[in-house]
Amino acid sequence: MDYKKLGFRCGLEIHQQLEGKKLFCSCKTSNLNTTEPDITFERRLRAVAGETGEIDKAAKHEMEKSKKFIYEGDSEDCCLVEMDEEPPHSINPEAVNAALQLAVMLNAKIVDEIQVMRKTVIDGSNTTGFQRTALIAQDGELKTSKGAVKIPTICLEEEACQKKEDSKDFVKYRLDRLGIPLIEIATDASIKDPEHAKETAELLGMMLRSTGKVKRGIGTIRQDVNVSVSGKNRVEIKGFQEIREISKIIEKEIERQISLKEKEDAHVRKVEDDGSTSYMRPMPGAARMYPETDVIPFKVDISKIESAELISDKAKRYEELGINKDLAKVLAKSDKAELFEKFTEEFKNIKPSFIAETLISSLREIKRKNVDVEKIKEKEFEMIFKAYDKGKISKSSIMDILSDIAEGRFKNIDHYKVEEEADTEKEIEKIVKEKPGLSAGGYMGLIMAKFKGKVDGKKAMDILKKFMK
Ligand SMILES: [Zn+2]
Repeated sequence: MDYKKLGFRCGLEIHQQLEGKKLFCSCKTSNLNTTEPDITFERRLRAVAGETGEIDKAAKHEMEKSKKFIYEGDSEDCCLVEMDEEPPHSINPEAVNAALQLAVMLNAKIVDEIQVMRKTVIDGSNTTGFQRTALIAQDGELKTSKGAVKIPTICLEEEACQKKEDSKDFVKYRLDRLGIPLIEIATDASIKDPEHAKETAELLGMMLRSTGKVKRGIGTIRQDVNVSVSGKNRVEIKGFQEIREISKIIEKEIERQISLKEKEDAHVRKVEDDGSTSYMRPMPGAARMYPETDVIPFKVDISKIESAELISDKAKRYEELGINKDLAKVLAKSDKAELFEKFTEEFKNIKPSFIAETLISSLREIKRKNVDVEKIKEKEFEMIFKAYDKGKISKSSIMDILSDIAEGRFKNIDHYKVEEEADTEKEIEKIVKEKPGLSAGGYMGLIMAKFKGKVDGKKAMDILKKFMK
């Protein structure tokens, strides 16, 4: 398909949850939603006129449904702010910092002062009837393989409640997710084709993860796509779960728009399980924003913004340390990257590639046995590298040590100590004498079984050669 000829216009909006505390209170953001709720209350919401004096179309659409909203939550994750019984506290400075780091990566113009706004949302997903949002930076740019994509806005927003049940008379929401900080990045409509949309989403996702401050896992990042072709109204598609589906879903949507006989109103659609989309609600208008007077504006100190290294740059740097390309990529993305940096600094005599293999490949292998590798922490790795650095243990015993720690069998590092060279020689001599006439491979099998990783293979071979003459 010739997307240029079709007048293809496409832009993305990415929402990424941040780690740490909530945006306007000190509640945790464990986001589990699995505990028994100890908070329950009900509300009805009403649309109010925005700055322009008119009631927002999308807000009215929800109000006409006139449903009751039921909220449930765990008091560990929610306080009076989420319940809208108390005004919001000042904006979470760590969340602001993450958004500022991203603004720097995207070369965007950072605002002097962060002013929180209220955006009318009346489907009950916010107990207040609005979502708080703050502009952090404007006019950024993302470099892609098909040219630059402009980033008109980078905002910080609060996450909404999670919908649990939608019946004829009420909607039930889980309150715990409400208030988790979200970075919202919007691109302009210059994305050139469906594949380009995927590339753009992937690059932005990589930049967000590069801040080291984002949540991971399903539902922690969401992409909305705005798309249209010549002569058709813009449609927003929500609810992507998998980034790799983006191009396919956009292709389908374009086919749908082309096949339309009459012009539709601009509207929001959601992605169904089979990759098709269905009508969700009208497009919200400009009438939905007004200032949040309960939060004082936050002065931005540009000199205090920490810089973050892009994951892609980090992977390149690791490759230059002699780590193979695939492992370097995995390591740069993983939560072990920080440990890797620390250990390469601390153990200068150990090859960085060996540290990387231990932290990533060895751990992955142990994980296959279905054991809890989370038991192996910084302290344990440090003990292992220390012992290896001093020649106390051999390379081949490290897998055993890691397995034993993960499976709760580990007692003492001395247990894995390499044999004294004199003892090793004596043992090898004995093996050769007991079973004369074997091949080197045959002896090595016996030797390695005897020492169970407590001797270095190459060293054992050297000793063996002496006795085999
Ligand atoms: Zn709270």
